[in-house]
Amino acid sequence: MHRMTPLAPGEVWLVGAGPGDPELLTRKAERLIGEASVIFYDALVGPGVLELARPDTRLVHVGKRSGRHSKDQKTIDRLIVEAALAGERVVRLKGGDPSIFGRSTEELDACRAAGVPVRICPGVTAASAAAAGLGVSLTLRGVARKLVFLTAHAQAGDMLDIDWQAAAEPETTLAVYMGKSSAAMLTIGLITAGLPGSTPVAMVENASLPNERCFRTRLDLLPLAARTALGDGPALLLIGEAMRVGDEVPVSAHAQPALAS
Ligand code: SAH
Repeated sequence: MHRMTPLAPGEVWLVGAGPGDPELLTRKAERLIGEASVIFYDALVGPGVLELARPDTRLVHVGKRSGRHSKDQKTIDRLIVEAALAGERVVRLKGGDPSIFGRSTEELDACRAAGVPVRICPGVTAASAAAAGLGVSLTLRGVARKLVFLTAHAQAGDMLDIDWQAAAEPETTLAVYMGKSSAAMLTIGLITAGLPGSTPVAMVENASLPNERCFRTRLDLLPLAARTALGDGPALLLIGEAMRVGDEVPVSAHAQPALAS
């Protein structure tokens, strides 16, 4: 029997909330959410996940979505540490997996510097949920031997700082986080580095949520497809030959929903 240590007062857990569907939480995450006295949560944490908190648990939104008002990282670090030092049972709930583009290091460092015990509970990352929604595998024997998690987040007006040669290597699936507004730069960078324009691309918006939408396109049409097909929700781009599998929908100039909803 695996021993469970309850969330102690003065302790912090960075908890992966998964892609949104509460059923994709780990059992440990669900337990910790239920034990917390305060939960600091991100914009991308699904509402169904927060419903699992006790009624007397304080829920603090510290979300960051580009362009919208939010607390800066230093403020979040400070709030977490202060709550722990005040003897709260602290859960820092992050979308997906805390260790993937989640600014976890800053929060771990802040806790450790203050002598606050801090631990991590992993979660299902958006790329896994997107592949599940598409009904495909991220890796494919002989076709995609490498899986790269890439963030295409750029400060407004800045160019993306990406090693394009490495990103465009063959036999790779690129899982691009925060890539919606950088679609044009991604296409130019990858094609210039040698990836064929015909490389299949899948885009999944709101993966695992009731309003999930899947689209398929190809690399040279990605900027147009991202602009016309995607809405306001978080979206993950999957680029590589492994995405050709299960592709029943003909490629066209406009992205097509891959699945009837
Ligand atoms: N730690 C998170 C990623 C945070 S970065 C994880 O492991 O999933 C935020 C980016 O993740 C979004 O811009 C989007 O690209 C992606 N993302 C998060 N949730 C998503 C979802 N439900 N559907 C599609 N993409 C998602």
